[in-house]
Amino acid sequence: MSDEDYCTVVQAAKPPKADGPPYAECVLCREPTEYPESYKGITLCPVCEWQEAQRTAYSG
Ligand SMILES: [Zn+2]
Repeated sequence: MSDEDYCTVVQAAKPPKADGPPYAECVLCREPTEYPESYKGITLCPVCEWQEAQRTAYSG
């Protein structure tokens, strides 16, 4: 994963849930997410994912 991934769209299809560790890090707070480490793209932990959802919900 690279910093360039920050610019990609978050609203794409949901990443797959990991069957087990290693998990990918949250791109915002570095907490482990529910997504596999091999996932290519933005991974958010449940907390940040919820916050992003709230922010998106109020932006319209
Ligand atoms: Zn997070």
